[in-house]
Amino acid sequence: MSWYKKLHWQIIIGLVLGLIFGVIAAAQGWSSFTSDWIAPWGEIFLRLLLLIAVPLVLGSLVTGVASLSDLKKLSRIGGKTIAIYMGTTVIALIIGLVLVNLLQPGAGVPEDMRQKLQETYADQAAAGLETAAEAAERGPLDPIVSMVPGNFFEAASNNRNMLQVVFFAIFAGIALLLIPREKARPLLEVFESLNDMIIRMVGIIMLFAPIGVFALMAGTITSIAGDDLGQIMELLGALGFYCIVVLLGLVVHMTVTYGSMMKFFTPRSIGDFMRALAPAQLVAFSTSSSGATLPVTMERCENELGVSEEVSSFVLPLGATINMDGTGLYQAVAAVFIAQTMGMDLDLGAQMTIVFTAVLASIGTAAVPGAGIIMLVIILESVGVPSAGIALILGVDRILDMCRTVTNVTGDATVAVVVAASEGQLLDKSLLPVSN
Ligand code: ASP
Repeated sequence: MSWYKKLHWQIIIGLVLGLIFGVIAAAQGWSSFTSDWIAPWGEIFLRLLLLIAVPLVLGSLVTGVASLSDLKKLSRIGGKTIAIYMGTTVIALIIGLVLVNLLQPGAGVPEDMRQKLQETYADQAAAGLETAAEAAERGPLDPIVSMVPGNFFEAASNNRNMLQVVFFAIFAGIALLLIPREKARPLLEVFESLNDMIIRMVGIIMLFAPIGVFALMAGTITSIAGDDLGQIMELLGALGFYCIVVLLGLVVHMTVTYGSMMKFFTPRSIGDFMRALAPAQLVAFSTSSSGATLPVTMERCENELGVSEEVSSFVLPLGATINMDGTGLYQAVAAVFIAQTMGMDLDLGAQMTIVFTAVLASIGTAAVPGAGIIMLVIILESVGVPSAGIALILGVDRILDMCRTVTNVTGDATVAVVVAASEGQLLDKSLLPVSN
């Protein structure tokens, strides 16, 4: 098969062309043409993926839980999965904190630039602060309360409520596990068939991925830069070092943490793993949504990495909802960066508070674009840094969102492979279909 026929190469070509087109469009003043005629194709691609996210989470988690032979197995796999998810998030946060303290990206932002950024993004920041303020006003047990849906259809009608759908699906799966097998079978068959249908739909949507990714990239660049490319260059000049620290952290976490997990706990090499996951990472990069990427992540893990359906259908929907290593790392760096820019010193206690709050915040962060920066407000408040400081980093947030979403998705897939290997449920490489 020629290299250009491989899906991930087609997506990379779409991505690079979209990037080039976006830059040319911004330089030539074609931003309204791009947003009218190009960006909608990206929106359609994104919507198609989101369209199947809720039924996929529901179908795969119900069958995933119900296919575990008993509750003991569920608590073993569930406990292991959640422990590894939490553990990797804490490691990501520590990597972020170490880097931001060592490299001090906030120390070099000139005072006039700081003021300019705060003025430019004050309105956008205020909108984010309002949402976060509502979250912060709630009582201590509210995050748990909001996990439990009062109405299933309401939960399923909003992609931000994925955690409620996860709750319902696990609950339903457990109930199916507890009723006699022959009574559960008809419903299970419906869900299994739903899953097969959705995996097929993913295959069809992915045929459209190169065009969708092209349009998403072109649309994103013009929406950030408008018709003024100079503005984005100025922003990158001021916040470039901060971006580099976040990116460095993400790369270190993906290569060192995930690389060692792959090496020591699974028979897969990191190279094989990354190659197989590449299409999902590219979709994550262009959509900035791990929820939208979930169908692709599942398809890759099952068909290309050999993770059993039993493990992938439990571990991955849960991970897309509660496991966000990239977001956590970014939040840790951003919180300390904002404090540094404002000349505040965060002691060890404050940094520990960041770790604690960020682990909880990453569970509650919706798997949609821009969710991480809203939760950042709660983290800033917890350590007494003025939350209006998010105005400083809003200008480059979309770029970092794209990158942290790649890490989020890679983290979910890594844990799926590790859990599958530990359960003897990772298909031998020789039995896998040849990678497309
Ligand atoms: N966009 C991220 C995701 O979907 C969440 C975030 O904003 O950090 O994984």
